Amino acid sequence: MKNKLFISVLSLIAMTLTVSTLDAAPKAKARKSEVKNIILMIGDGMGASHITQVMIDQKFAPLNMNRATGGGMVTTYSKNNRVTDSAAAATAFATGYKTNNSKLSVDPENKPMTTILELAEQAGYATGVVATCALVHATPAAFYAHAKHRYDSDTIATQLVPSGIDVAFGAGKGNFDARKDGRNLLAEAQEAGYTVVDSIHKLDDVHSGKAIVAYPTGRNHLPMMLKGRGDYLPQATAKALELLKSCSRKGMFLMVEGSLIDYGGHGNSEKDIVAETRDFDNAVGVAMDFADQNPGTLVIILADHETGGMSVISNNADFTESESGVKTRFSTGGHSAVMVPLLTYGTGADKVGGILDNTEINHRMCELLGL
Ligand SMILES: [Zn+2]
Repeated sequence: MKNKLFISVLSLIAMTLTVSTLDAAPKAKARKSEVKNIILMIGDGMGASHITQVMIDQKFAPLNMNRATGGGMVTTYSKNNRVTDSAAAATAFATGYKTNNSKLSVDPENKPMTTILELAEQAGYATGVVATCALVHATPAAFYAHAKHRYDSDTIATQLVPSGIDVAFGAGKGNFDARKDGRNLLAEAQEAGYTVVDSIHKLDDVHSGKAIVAYPTGRNHLPMMLKGRGDYLPQATAKALELLKSCSRKGMFLMVEGSLIDYGGHGNSEKDIVAETRDFDNAVGVAMDFADQNPGTLVIILADHETGGMSVISNNADFTESESGVKTRFSTGGHSAVMVPLLTYGTGADKVGGILDNTEINHRMCELLGL
């Protein structure tokens, strides 16, 4: 009897303790994984054919992408179209919801939807975007801004600094300092504590803190690789990772876009596609090396959609040293509906795989970071 009473008292104490522990639990969801850094790498318009063409071009010498240990395929359709545009696709990755083409992290009724970058920022992660297009262009913008139309670049630009983003590297300086409203958003960024420069090389001696690189390309993107862009993208990826690591001990969310693969697709230019995809792959290598050196880092490589309806077919010649044996055909100057490749590397690489919808990519990333 005495023993029974003793046990009841013990269980009461245990229950009380459990309840108070629950009460004291923080509101934020606990991170259930070992993943603390996510690098989301988007090859804009990069289908399986685009990657295959690079492989053929270098006679199947391995790409950095070949180092991936997991992956699958991603369905890309938008809310109102089987063929997505970059705005709706980036919105799916950023928010976990589908929207109509041309909308940027707002729902079809223009209601803003919270992005993974905003959630990560609130939770104390360092955040960033790196692109070869203008910083206000659809893919990077969907992570830090909300707009009812993707080309409302004046409004999008005003949202960069207030998002709390730590690094933003890209083109289109004119969207920030040659504006109709007379504001100089880059001067404002400097006052808010950012290092602001107009070339990635001007950050060579900067090794910590928040930074914005906006190239003086008017309102437009950087030059194509074949017009002499150089190794900006891999360098910008390395610098972003270095700075983000200095900004937070908790971890980071970084989006890196090979933006101009898409332009090669729209132009049905096989040479541009090969050069841009190879450049993107070099940036993938930088991210994978970072993952090797920083346990807890997950690299996700995918595309927002395929561009060009590209196929690689036989030209009825045998492969020789001088003859590739293939020719490239395009079925459109626009985007296509086909699924795009998904590759993963690093900690948690097995947690993002199979045939996934683009919205599910967001859900998995949020779960892994406890957002
Ligand atoms: Zn496009």
